[in-house]
Amino acid sequence: MSLNFGRSLMAIPGPSVIPERVLNAMHRPSPNIYEGELVDLTATLYPDLRKVAAMSGDVAIYIANGHGAWEASLKNTLAAGDRILVLTTGRFAANWGLMAESLDIDVQVLDFGMQGDADPDQLEAALRADVDGKIRAVLTVQTDTASSVLNNVPALRKAMDAAGHDALYMVDCIACLGCDRFAMDEWGVDVMVAACQKGLMTPAGLSFVYFNDKASRARKKVNPGFYWDWLPRTRPELFYQQFGGTAPTHHLYGLREALDILVHEEGVEAAWARHDTIAHAYWAAVDAWGADGALHHNIADPDKRSRSVSTITTAIGDADRIRQWTEQQAGVTLGIGLGFGEPGSEEWNRRFRIGHMGHQNVPMVMGVLGAIDCALKALSIPHGSGALDAAAAVLAGHGKV
Ligand SMILES: *Cc1c(COP(=O)(O)O)cnc(C)c1O
Repeated sequence: MSLNFGRSLMAIPGPSVIPERVLNAMHRPSPNIYEGELVDLTATLYPDLRKVAAMSGDVAIYIANGHGAWEASLKNTLAAGDRILVLTTGRFAANWGLMAESLDIDVQVLDFGMQGDADPDQLEAALRADVDGKIRAVLTVQTDTASSVLNNVPALRKAMDAAGHDALYMVDCIACLGCDRFAMDEWGVDVMVAACQKGLMTPAGLSFVYFNDKASRARKKVNPGFYWDWLPRTRPELFYQQFGGTAPTHHLYGLREALDILVHEEGVEAAWARHDTIAHAYWAAVDAWGADGALHHNIADPDKRSRSVSTITTAIGDADRIRQWTEQQAGVTLGIGLGFGEPGSEEWNRRFRIGHMGHQNVPMVMGVLGAIDCALKALSIPHGSGALDAAAAVLAGHGKV
């Protein structure tokens, strides 16, 4: 017997929930890709994509997932034999570094483990030690989707400046653009990669490489090849070449609708504030459960937690049971404990993740929390009481000082 009936809910950290309006905007026949409505609509995307990242430079759109943007960012700025420094705080910067290795880039890693953020002092020391300036780029993520840590992007920039180092600063915001506060120009980020299927609420298939003048100068010294070259992709007048071939027709309509919602209706600042409150509601519930039992936050310090995803630790095996119960009995799909030990190991199976990125509101938050609360009770997993009350109190306080 199952209670799994009615509308199901994805609460994994990407792909996120797609608004009906975005799906409806995509439900149409193929448009003319050479002139007319789609060409005009595509030109309107760029200013809004810049607003989401608070930047004034260029943005290239790829028909790809986040991995495509990773590869594009590397191919447009680096060549085989160049050295980079990767700041690892979970799984994702590490994988970006592995991709660089596959391009014969020389990868140096500073590993901060699965429970903390990248330390600006260690970055500064590593850059000071690079006396002949061999390091061409520093790579990090803003949110690591495995550990759910939030790196301090401006503090890391300050460390680079303090070291007087000239490396490019490249940041992956795939998990949190539109959720965690980000200001590319002000924070001195040279290259930023993002994708459409998380905070940007569009089905997977578009990704973005943002870059400034300094990165453009680096592009002139390398050969990115035909398909990943970011130059044609910043020139809407080259419509067919702009996408290296046929445009991602329906995704462009979907993204237009999503940016209408995010930039023109809600506003990016308001979306950040909403994600902040929603994250705090989840955290308050986890604190309440953890008051009596094994559940706790993977990232202990709230200032270092992402507003788009939460990684929660349980007693061995419980995370897996909770995920299976919520999916099978309640229609709520939670994220797996990615990146801790080997897949399927004890460490892996004692973590689950909640994605709270993009199209999120009160009933979704309370629904996910309610389903987890039911799972804890059904599975007799020890937990403190009052989690839903605690979350409701946080949500009720939204916008009040
Ligand atoms: C999801 C994610 C990626 C990978 O994106 P894909 O679209 O799956 O290729 C990379 N980095 C971060 C931080 C992510 O959250």
